[in-house]
Order: sequence, then C-alpha cells, then structure tokens
Amino acid sequence: GLNDTGLELPLTHSGAAFMRAQKVIPGGSMRPSSWFPPHPPYALRGQGCWLTDLDGNRVLDCSNNFFSLVHGHAFPPVVEAVREAVGQGTAFGLPTPSEIALAEAITGRAPHLERVRFCNSGTEAVMYAVKGARALTGRSAIAKFEGAYHGTYDVMELGYESSPENWDGPDGDPAATPYVRGTPPGLIAETVILPYGDPARCADILRRKGRTLAGIVFDPLASRIGMIPASAALVEVLQEACARDGIMLICDEVIGFRMAHAGAHSLFGLKPDLVALGKVIGGGLPAGGVAGPAARMAVYDHTHGKPGVALGGTFSANPLTMVAGKATLDAYDEAAVSRLNALGDAFREATNAAFRAAGLEAQLTGMGGLFRLHLTGRVLRDFRDITPTPGGEALARVQAALLASGVLVTPNVSGALSTPMTEAETTLLGRLMVDCVAEALG
Ligand code: PLP
Repeated sequence: GLNDTGLELPLTHSGAAFMRAQKVIPGGSMRPSSWFPPHPPYALRGQGCWLTDLDGNRVLDCSNNFFSLVHGHAFPPVVEAVREAVGQGTAFGLPTPSEIALAEAITGRAPHLERVRFCNSGTEAVMYAVKGARALTGRSAIAKFEGAYHGTYDVMELGYESSPENWDGPDGDPAATPYVRGTPPGLIAETVILPYGDPARCADILRRKGRTLAGIVFDPLASRIGMIPASAALVEVLQEACARDGIMLICDEVIGFRMAHAGAHSLFGLKPDLVALGKVIGGGLPAGGVAGPAARMAVYDHTHGKPGVALGGTFSANPLTMVAGKATLDAYDEAAVSRLNALGDAFREATNAAFRAAGLEAQLTGMGGLFRLHLTGRVLRDFRDITPTPGGEALARVQAALLASGVLVTPNVSGALSTPMTEAETTLLGRLMVDCVAEALG
C-alpha cells in the first residue's frame, strides 16, 4: 500500500539508469550498489521521512542519507534557508557571516567544543583531525579500533582483518589489515589497532605503544563494529592512556553528534582533544568540521606565518552548507533531541521484545535514534563478534525484504530515525522488521 505516489514511470527506470551508469561510472554508483542486487533503486525525491524512487516506489527512509538527515528530506526551514542563500551566490573566495553563525550554533550547544573549522565531509574531518594530532604531538602513528569506519582516508582504512586466523598480527596485537588497495606499507607498519570489546587488552597495547602515538581515533558507538555503546571501562582506559602519554584523543562524531545536544562525547564522559564532525551539521549538504577546546584548535590557525595545519579549501564553509546546517541545528534543540532519542529507545526495546516473543535469533543494537540489526541472540562486544556477519546471507535477505515492503535501511541493516517520524512509523518499522527477519530465517 506504499506505492501510492501516482507517478507514471516505467518499472524498469532504475534498472535502465544503472545500465547507463555502468558505461561511465566504475561499479555503477558512488553508493553501495552491490548491496542492492541486481541494481539499486535510484532516488527521485524525498519529503520528510519518505523517499520516492525513479519507479514511483515510496519507502520509509531509515537510511536518511547514511544518518545525515536528522529532519528527513526537504525540511522546510532548510529548503527556505538554502533557497534564500543560493540566489546570493553559492561560493566566494571570501568568508561569509553564515560560517560564523554555524560555528556559534555548534560551540553554543557543546561547551567542550570551544572552536570549530569547517570542511566538506566526515572523511576530511577525520583526516584534518589526524593531521592536527600529528602537529600537536610531533608524532605520526595513529591508533584506531578494529573494524571501525571513519571514512575513506588511508590510515583509517586499516584494521579490517576478516579471517579469524589472521586477526592478530606477527607481534600478537590486532593486525592493521587494509580493506582497500593502495595503502602505503609504512602507514600499515605504524598504525596501532585496538580491540573495542577488550579494555584490558587495549590498556596493555597502549602501555607498550602509547608513547609512539599522535592520536587515538574513537567512535563511542561505531556503526561498523556493531553499533555497541562503548563501555565505561574502555573510556577510562583511553582517557588514562592519553593523559599519561600525551596522546590526542580524537572523537569521531560524524554520526554521533546527533545523539546528544552537546555531542556524543558528553554522553560518555569523554574529554576529547579534537572532535570530527559531519553529516547532521550540514543539514543534508556536504559537510565536515573539526572542533575542540580552544588550546587544541589553535593548531589550525596558520595565519600570519604560524606553522599550523591548513584546514580548509575551495568549498569549505560554503554558504549553502552553512545555512542548511544552522537551520538543522536550530530545529534540533534539546527537546527535539530527547524526543528522537526516546522514540528510538522505545523502538529498539519493543522490537527486541518482539524478536524474543517470536523466538527469533535477532537483536537491535544502537542508542537513541540509531539502530542496527544482528541475526544473533548472543551478547555482542566488538568487530570479532560480528565477523563474519552472523546470518550474513539471511541479513541480505532481510534488507531486500524490507525494501520490498517499503523500508530503506543501510546495506548492513542499520538506520537512523528522523524527527518527522512518530510512533506510527516506528511501530510500522518494528512490525516489518520482525516479519522480514522471520521470513529470512524461516
Ligand atoms: N566517520 C564515521 C563514523 C562515518 O560514519 C562516516 C561516514 O559514513 C565518516 C566518518 C565519513 O564521512 P563522509 O562520508 O562524510 O566522508
């Protein structure tokens, strides 16, 4: 009953687009095509929490452009702000007041983040944070968690060993296996990989290798390692090692910033030196940023011949992103954050109860408005617990069945709620999820 948009398009429209794309785009798409066999649906337009594809199918959008659209599609204040700004020109080789306004909106809600600079993506934000940590410490090695995704920047594309027999490297610590080709061997040799679910082992590794590290990149709810909230013990180990060895703690809040009014670090009692931002801060336009205490952020001040790190470029702080981000954050006040988090908590709780009641080996992890499905009833702690993916093929069937029933989730069956959603949508989502899991497992 969701295919009610009244559009008259041929049913093969997305297929035709994908065939056309194959001739000019390697892999067919910049989006994860291979997860949508035989081809992904092409988006036509979105409104609120609903998205319509090229063939007129209307789906409940729980991908929200990989969690970046906290207010869903075409949020009126964003549309209005962008419409007004676009008529004035889209980019200038000069600063605009819009960047000050967004910087004030971010620093105003997150007291630990006293300063911020903008770039164009979460990948860039992490890259600049890594460079900042290197400049602040005079060291080059970086630690990250096994399996954690921080964008497509070379040092962050390590620690993805999928074969259990090779999980640990020659020195007995988790291996810095790249998941892409083209990573310089020197980078692999100096990158330290930490096990998210084992704080004691992290402490041991950091005791031995901490003094070589410029920074530790940490996402306290890393999606690719299961969307499992970080333990208090892990937070303590990281803060202790950073204080002892002078390591910069880099929090990746590219997704997490939406979890709390003052940012994810505030929920976990973290005191990061630098925070990588993205997604929601751009209100649906390309965005990234690095934020933190003024003393740390001074490293990006390279005016007047200061030897800082250059953070910026042609489209950094472009006025369209800045006004879209400002309109988004203005409407995502404390009440809106709490409401969305409560909606998500209730959704996961009710769906998990329904899985148990139906005797299904499945669970939703996550926090606040974020969720991820796992086809196992076991307690999950980290990357190793979900590698290989429990019920891998069945999980792909769940994703396909959800899409066929009118729900778009990310390729690994994770998702984010958006503020236009109400209990009506989360109840529908929960019911479809239980049905699709039962079908895929049965
Ligand atoms: N960090 C995290 C935690 C992410 O989820 C992502 C993107 O999914 C990134 C960094 C990279 O952000 P972007 O895709 O904007 O480059």
